[in-house]
Amino acid sequence: MRDLADVRVFVYQWFAERGEPPSPEDVADGFGLDTAAALEALRALHDAHLLVLDAGRREILMAHPWSARSLGFVVTDERVRWWGGCAWDSFAIPALVGRPCLVATHCPGCGRALALDVRPDEHPPAGLVAHFLVPIPRMWDDVMYTCAHQSLFCSEEHVGRWLRQSRSPRGAILDMRTLWLLATRWYAGRFTREYRRRTPDEARALFHELGLVGPFWGDA
Ligand SMILES: [Zn+2]
Repeated sequence: MRDLADVRVFVYQWFAERGEPPSPEDVADGFGLDTAAALEALRALHDAHLLVLDAGRREILMAHPWSARSLGFVVTDERVRWWGGCAWDSFAIPALVGRPCLVATHCPGCGRALALDVRPDEHPPAGLVAHFLVPIPRMWDDVMYTCAHQSLFCSEEHVGRWLRQSRSPRGAILDMRTLWLLATRWYAGRFTREYRRRTPDEARALFHELGLVGPFWGDA
């Protein structure tokens, strides 16, 4: 068998082309493995936080920025419909696939439908804001919960409305330019074999370049 990087890239490309994850059997077929060996590879990638399996450690739930299930974001172009994992993930997909995409969701503050065109090469105009609830150092404590609470809102006022309704602590608010820069730069290179997860110091360096500072972003 080839190494885990090949399996990871295979999963990403499958998601990009089809809008859904491969099954363990698809991975086995792709590499000429038996299903047990394919599952072993997928579980190793899960344990390295390079994808997310279900509780039975069998089906792929996420390979960021792709999700197998709706988490509140639809991302689509003329060929494929994807479930975006969250605001951060959904803004990364156009740059990863190299095509403009429509990103659609609901504002948690008022329930209004929000849709915007996101390009691979230019940030969307100002207007909407993103709110991230879970601080970066705790992002992987429950990654599905984290993703489900990285949302787009009409305005900061509607973030405030949702925080009061849900009795949630205020997290971080990002404008459209900052969200797009974070998403495209965070996910750059994800399709290559050479990609590896950023260390906390490397992640902080990127956040600092974008003006994202403070304990929420992992600063002491
Ligand atoms: Zn709203």
